[in-house]
Amino acid sequence: MDIEERLNEVLASLPEGVELVAVSKFHPEDDILRAYRQGQRVFGESREQELSRKYASLPKDIRWHFIGHLQTNKVKYIAPFISLIEAVDSLKLMKEINRQGEKCGRVIDILLELHLAQEDTKSGLTLDECRSLLADGEWRQMANVRICGLMMMASFTDDENQIRREMLAAAAFFEEVKAKYFADAEYFNRRSWGMSDDYEIALKCNSNTIRVGTRIFGPRQ
Ligand SMILES: *Cc1c(COP(=O)(O)O)cnc(C)c1O
Repeated sequence: MDIEERLNEVLASLPEGVELVAVSKFHPEDDILRAYRQGQRVFGESREQELSRKYASLPKDIRWHFIGHLQTNKVKYIAPFISLIEAVDSLKLMKEINRQGEKCGRVIDILLELHLAQEDTKSGLTLDECRSLLADGEWRQMANVRICGLMMMASFTDDENQIRREMLAAAAFFEEVKAKYFADAEYFNRRSWGMSDDYEIALKCNSNTIRVGTRIFGPRQ
């Protein structure tokens, strides 16, 4: 199968209301264009330089999601064009996004990244860290940042029950945060979990944004 067929296969398996982020990191511009010609407009990248290069050369109606760990000193490069910064895991990073958003006259959409996986290597906020970040309230003063939902990566394991447990914990936490802080905010609606190996599980755990790379573009070099 080629990129076009694999993309269509993934798209055909998605219920209405679920957005596919085609994760194109490490894949060349030509591969992105193949998906683009099939109608795909949302792509995910995890390194600033690679994203900036691709942004410069590819069609401007692509909506880029930054899905990796973002260093504060890199925010300024993507602030003018990024559509969604998915993996925000500190107040410090939020403040810098707000500062850069103000500089370029944009309100930048972000997701808070939760750490629910077993591995220590995964980044993100524990539920309690996320609770205190929101309770602290400093984010309310950030006019150029908009918190649009939550993102997480499940453990890398064959144990589907564990993956499901982690994703259901994220889904429940989304409801908690929504009720407490964003009950009237329509824009707080994104639940980003599910990748190539676990997005079918994610769809049963209330995800509405899946980030799929390998399943579409093949293995990364
Ligand atoms: C690379 C990456 C993905 C896509 O992973 P695949 O297994 O290739 O689908 C999704 N989310 C994040 C945060 C990633 O870094």
